[in-house]
Amino acid sequence: MAKPSFSTPLGMVDILPEETPSWRALEQIIHEEAAKFNFQEIRTPILEPTELIRRGVGQLTDIVTKEIFAFKKGDTHYVLRPELTAPVVRSYVQHHLDQRGGIQKLYYIGPMFRAERPQKGRQRQFHQFGLEVIGSADPVADIETIAFMMRVYQRIGIKNFTLKLNSVGDPESRERYKQVLRDYLEPKRSQLSELSQQRLDKNPMRILDSKEPEDQKFIAKAPTIQDYLNEDSSIHFEQVKCGLESLDIAFEIDPHLVRGMDYYTRTAFELSSPILGSQDALAGGGRYDLLVEEIGGKPTPAVGFAAGMERLLIACEKLNVSLAKKSALDIYIVSLGEDARNWALSILPELRTHSLSASMDYTGKSMRAQMKEANRELSRFTLIVGENELSTGTFILRNMTESNEVAISASEIVSNVLAYKKS
Ligand code: AMP
Repeated sequence: MAKPSFSTPLGMVDILPEETPSWRALEQIIHEEAAKFNFQEIRTPILEPTELIRRGVGQLTDIVTKEIFAFKKGDTHYVLRPELTAPVVRSYVQHHLDQRGGIQKLYYIGPMFRAERPQKGRQRQFHQFGLEVIGSADPVADIETIAFMMRVYQRIGIKNFTLKLNSVGDPESRERYKQVLRDYLEPKRSQLSELSQQRLDKNPMRILDSKEPEDQKFIAKAPTIQDYLNEDSSIHFEQVKCGLESLDIAFEIDPHLVRGMDYYTRTAFELSSPILGSQDALAGGGRYDLLVEEIGGKPTPAVGFAAGMERLLIACEKLNVSLAKKSALDIYIVSLGEDARNWALSILPELRTHSLSASMDYTGKSMRAQMKEANRELSRFTLIVGENELSTGTFILRNMTESNEVAISASEIVSNVLAYKKS
C-alpha cells in the first residue's frame, strides 16, 4: 500500500520553529506599541456567520463573491473570517460596548482566510494586525489610527513605503460625485473593460480601482472626488492632512484611492512598498461611519486599518532587518547511565525555577552525541553527570562559549550559571 502523504492546503503554510521567534517579536512590538496608545486587544472567533461578512465586506466584492471559505453545519452558514472589521463591529454591537462609555479603541492580531490564487505575498491563510476606533468622528481618531500603523513600521525599521491618502466624502458628496463620474464614463462605456462596464451601473467609483489597461486612460482623466466634497467632508480632510503633517508623517494624495462599499466615508489610506513586488500593499484602512448601523447597531462613526503580517516580514527579509535571534539555551545536562539520567531529570525543575532554560538528552545518546546536541542548541553551559560524579558529588560545569570548566557541587550550579548570565 502506498505511504500516505500529506501537505498543507494550497496557499497555507506552516510557520516553522526557526520562523516563530520573528513572529513572536513582531507580535510583541504590536502589543507594546498598542499599549502606548492605550488600545485594547480584542479576540473574536475564526468562524463568523456568512450574512455578517456579506453585509460587512460587501455582496459584490471579490472577497465575498469568489474568495470566501464557506460551509454549512445544521442550518447555519459559516465562513472563515476574511477580515476583522465586520467581526469587531459585530462584537461591539453584540456586547453593547458603546454603553461602557468613551471610545472603543480595539486592536487585533490573527489569521484571516481568502481563497485567492496563491503567489509570493498572497496566501489563503494569512495574518493581519489592525485597529478599529469606534465611536469618534473626530479627525484625531483618523490621525491616531494612521500614527499607530506608521509607528509599528517605524519601530521595526521599515522606511521604504508610500502612504497614500484620500477622502471619499460622505454619502451626500459621494452621490454627487458618482453621478459626475457616470456622466463622464457613460459615453466611453463600450471601450471600458467588461468588469468596469458592469461597475458603471452598480458602483462607478470602483472603476477607479481597475487595473485593466483599457480603463487606465479614462481613469487618468476622470474627475476627482475632491472637487465634489461638501464643506464638512472637506474640512475633515484638511484636518487629517494637517494632523499628519504636524506629526511628520509623509503622505501623497491619491484621488483614485476609493473604497467600493457604501459604508466607507471620508478618510481612505493605503501603505505600499515597492520592495514587495506585485503584491505591494502593506496595509490599508479608512473611516466607515455607516458600518455599525449596517450591522445592527446605532449610528456610530468609526475608523480603522488592517496590515498584512506576512508582507511585513517579507519586507524585513528584503531589508535585512532581523526581528529576533535564536534564543540560546542556558544549560544542557550531559548524562551517562540510568542513574545519571534520573538525576538530570530531577535537577531540571530547580534550574527552571530560577528562570534558566535547561534541557537534557531524551534518547540515550552517547556523550559525544550529547555534546554535539548541546552545541547545536547553542547551550552556554553543559554539566557532565556520570556514575563518578554522582558518587563524589562533584560535577564538571563547562562554559561552552569560553571553553573553560569548573568542578562544583550540585548546590553551586544555579549560582554559577546565573553569575555568568549577569556578567
Ligand atoms: P485588505 O483587508 O484587503 O485591505 O488587506 C489588508 C492587508 O492585508 C493588505 O494590505 C495586505 O498587506 C494583507 N493581505 C490581504 N490579503 C492578503 C493575502 N491573501 N495574503 C497575504 N496578505 C494579504
